[in-house]
Amino acid sequence: MDETCERYAHVVARVEDAARASGREPAAVRLVAVSKFHPSSALARLAGCGQRDFGESRAQEGGAKIAALPDPAIEWHFLGPLQRNKARLIAGRFQWLHSLESLQAADTLSRHLTTSNARLRVLIEVNITGDPRKHGVAPADLFPFLEAYTSRPRIGLDLVGLMTMAPHAASEGAVRAAFAHLRELACKSRQAFGLPGFDELSMGMSDDYHWAIAEGATIVRIGRALFGERGPATAHTP
Ligand SMILES: *Cc1c(COP(=O)(O)O)cnc(C)c1O
Repeated sequence: MDETCERYAHVVARVEDAARASGREPAAVRLVAVSKFHPSSALARLAGCGQRDFGESRAQEGGAKIAALPDPAIEWHFLGPLQRNKARLIAGRFQWLHSLESLQAADTLSRHLTTSNARLRVLIEVNITGDPRKHGVAPADLFPFLEAYTSRPRIGLDLVGLMTMAPHAASEGAVRAAFAHLRELACKSRQAFGLPGFDELSMGMSDDYHWAIAEGATIVRIGRALFGERGPATAHTP
């Protein structure tokens, strides 16, 4: 086994162990390989190890990689902040969007999806920590957001859950509390709004995915543990 597949097998095993330890099937947790800033050759290598879900945070960079890896078995996840003028690059190319935080973006995406006759699974990003540098809807604004979102049909969009980022370099207790908070918000949202299929919790990255799974993550987004450090040289040249 080459180095890429070895690293991959190690992460997959840890994800599966964490799922079993929390009383769930290993298949209940989807591993998204966050491939931002890495060249499509690195994605192709990981796909060769069996990986099927890839996450990108810039529309143009992601679009180029989707074009370079035209494998219908691959699912593409958009994780970055969504600029309105980039919606057309996402609709019809990506299958998932983890970072919905505006109703206008939902409208724009829906228009493009209607035109391209495609569907997009969306998760609302919640700014659990209230960090002003982070994106997402504030926890207190989630219900008003859902009320407005569900007040009319959103053609092409399937609202499937919530996404968050844990506080950076925090203690296990603080990180797990943030993940537990997201789980509770999802539970209350289901109760208050019905929301069929609203089952996904996208939380957990390279440093904290085992805690996220223990708190109920159904999707973990892992970059460095799979691809190595992104590094300053590559970080600015997508
Ligand atoms: C970069 C990124 C990740 C992956 O982070 P790692 O620490 O490399 O695992 C996950 N989610 C989002 C939204 C990201 O931007």
